[in-house]
Amino acid sequence: MYPDVLLLIDGAWTQSESGRSLPVVNPASGETNGTVAHAGRADLDRALAAADKGFHVWRRMSAYDRSKLMRKAADLLRERADSIARLMTLEQGKPLAEAKGETLAGADVIDWFAEEARRAYGRVVPARAEGIYQLVLKEPVGPVAAFTPWNFPINQVVRKLSAALAAGCSIIVKAPEETPASPAELIRCFVDAGVPAGVVNLVYGVPAEISEYLIPHPVIRKISFTGSTAIGKQLAALAGAHMKRATMELGGHAPAIVFDDADIETAVKILAPSKLRNAGQVCISPTRFLVQEPVYDAFVEQFTARIAAAKVGDGLEAGTTMGPLANPRRITAMESFIGDAVQRGATLRTGGNRIGNKGNFFEPTVLTDVPADARIMHEEPFGPVAVISRFRTFDDAVTEANRLPFGLASYAYTRSARTANAIAAAVEAGMMSINHHGLALPEVPFGGVKDSGYGSEGGLEAIEAYLNTKFVSQAGL
Ligand code: NAD
Repeated sequence: MYPDVLLLIDGAWTQSESGRSLPVVNPASGETNGTVAHAGRADLDRALAAADKGFHVWRRMSAYDRSKLMRKAADLLRERADSIARLMTLEQGKPLAEAKGETLAGADVIDWFAEEARRAYGRVVPARAEGIYQLVLKEPVGPVAAFTPWNFPINQVVRKLSAALAAGCSIIVKAPEETPASPAELIRCFVDAGVPAGVVNLVYGVPAEISEYLIPHPVIRKISFTGSTAIGKQLAALAGAHMKRATMELGGHAPAIVFDDADIETAVKILAPSKLRNAGQVCISPTRFLVQEPVYDAFVEQFTARIAAAKVGDGLEAGTTMGPLANPRRITAMESFIGDAVQRGATLRTGGNRIGNKGNFFEPTVLTDVPADARIMHEEPFGPVAVISRFRTFDDAVTEANRLPFGLASYAYTRSARTANAIAAAVEAGMMSINHHGLALPEVPFGGVKDSGYGSEGGLEAIEAYLNTKFVSQAGL
């Protein structure tokens, strides 16, 4: 049922030239699903040549025709959503409903960018003299190298791929080795829709080897990376050394601020499932829950009860609300973060332990009274752990929210319009969602500030990142 996943180079699905492949493991059982081909230098050279050739074909195709092919790919993705979602759960662990939701949302992303492809307008700037035409043209930046992680195998690829294709760029996607089949099926939809050979290429392998080769390569003109801040800084430095444009979607440590005038029931109802979505392995996952003193006890009690009631299990089983962690590294990380916090005096309200010894299951966890020097107060946990702290004044909440170098997502709950406006202005983050969870739609910006990176993967800004601006000044003869 689970395929041996191949590379896609110049329109052909292929093993690596060396024949090298690695196993793909089911995080719910620890058993091997299948294999994934690992690209070597020769495969990368072929992918680079294909992307170069594909770029010259794709950029010449009209935006109207590119858009039609993209919408066809979106339709195929919708048709195939059930089988693709199953592959995603087998390789990543998330509950089937989440996997299907991600796949269908991927089709919406493609559709939105397909529409925007036809609106990558330039402009005419009024000239200072008669007979002069000043044109601002938008041109595709060139072949793209995109690096995507294992937490949202389709979503992380589709945002980069759709924006690049809409702008007229070709692309080499280095998709996640641990969750390779669902992104390959996403890309198959573009191949089957008729996107010309070489426009979209897909490789897997040793991430550092691939990025170190592709980023400096003269064919590649733009980099997009999603992953940890530490790796993002390395890749951004490499891109900078070679003057390549880059979009960096990095880690977060999102504050969720609950003011004493908030509707606590609503806050709990929205924040608890947001925390456990994809077992907390989400860059915009709410992590530091900052709750104003008068409502602190009520919030902790209701929130903890809801977190403890989650049904943890195999994502393919009906009723599962949280699957296993995606890889054993996350189990080690959870044990280390929680052990460190408890040893420093934190209170474990629920969870804290691995479940069983088959698969990567972990209890949804709530910590309170966590001292400021605990590691979890500084590093992104990337797992199902919530840390709840109390605050007194608005300024205290802002100081804590802005304390870390991260600035990706943030959340606030309040009934006051004045407080809502003030907190949105005061928090240093790329995104804030107030009184609901409203992030990550294709039509709105998605990105961070500070150590969370730069650039946007949604909205108009997302296409702009794949376009060069050319100025032409023309006088009549
Ligand atoms: P990691 O930091 O080694 O890898 C993170 C991602 O970056 C993976 O997809 C990996 O393939 C890729 N990567 C690593 N080194 C690379 C390189 N030199 N060139 C190109 N790509 C490279 O470790 P990990 O255990 O997979 O994840 C650890 C942390 O990464 C998590 O705790 C989390 O903070 C962060 N992460 C963030 C996201 C996100 O959505 N922003 C997704 C996955 C992981």
